[in-house]
Amino acid sequence: MADRLQVDIITPDSMVLSGKYNMVVVRSVEGELGILAGHIPIIVTLSEWPVKLKNEDGTVTYVSVSGGFMEVRNNQVSILATAAEMPADIDAKRARAAKKRAEKRLLAKGEYDHARAQVALKRAAGRIKTVELSASKTR
Ligand code: ATP
Repeated sequence: MADRLQVDIITPDSMVLSGKYNMVVVRSVEGELGILAGHIPIIVTLSEWPVKLKNEDGTVTYVSVSGGFMEVRNNQVSILATAAEMPADIDAKRARAAKKRAEKRLLAKGEYDHARAQVALKRAAGRIKTVELSASKTR
């Protein structure tokens, strides 16, 4: 059997996911990156975008990751992130409210820290996207 990847997604609070997968697809700040067994060692900063994991049976698992980076070495994929959630643990209503709040703050002149609102918006959008992709599982 071909080598698989050991994937661990860890936040300061918990181990969100740990298991063997055939492939990991992430969006790094430099673009999309697909990791298979045998990948060269790398460390990349992740964008606020769902991490896609391909299971052995061809199904796909999505995980929301924010404020994260990924290290790949010896078929071990370690994702350390400020926050990460499995789709079932995401409160979509809360994420939509956070997105709206951030959008309002970005429109308000001078009152809010726009850089902070921009990051909050990306976090919320990433969570919403994770729920959507997980529900459709079309890609
Ligand atoms: P909010 O404004 O709704 O608090 P946030 O983006 O500021 O969102 P974070 O600071 O990224 O929240 O996360 C704080 C904690 O709450 C983390 O443990 C994170 O996993 C969790 N969390 C944040 N938003 C959600 C959500 N929509 N569903 C489930 N857990 C969430």
